[in-house]
Amino acid sequence: MNATPTRGRFGFRRDRLPSAADYYPTQGIKLIGRGAWRDTICPFHPDTRPSLRVRIETGAFRCMVCGAHGGDVLAFHMQRHGLRFIEAAKALGAWEDGQ
Ligand SMILES: [Zn+2]
Repeated sequence: MNATPTRGRFGFRRDRLPSAADYYPTQGIKLIGRGAWRDTICPFHPDTRPSLRVRIETGAFRCMVCGAHGGDVLAFHMQRHGLRFIEAAKALGAWEDGQ
């Protein structure tokens, strides 16, 4: 666990990532339930029932069927759209060029 948000990857601003509650609906992901973990249809495999679980506090996700998983909305965005880290961070407004 890295306590220094800007260390390691230049320009990344984790504090600017959207919350899971804000982000997932923009991706057509409807979060079902009220607990710490929400259920939804998995976009990574042809899902017929809610197999993807999303942790609302962190944005972490895990599919109980296809095994897709990640630790935050950035990881989801990278996998969903086939983006590199920086591309996904920029798309989510969490990248600072510093220029
Ligand atoms: Zn899946």
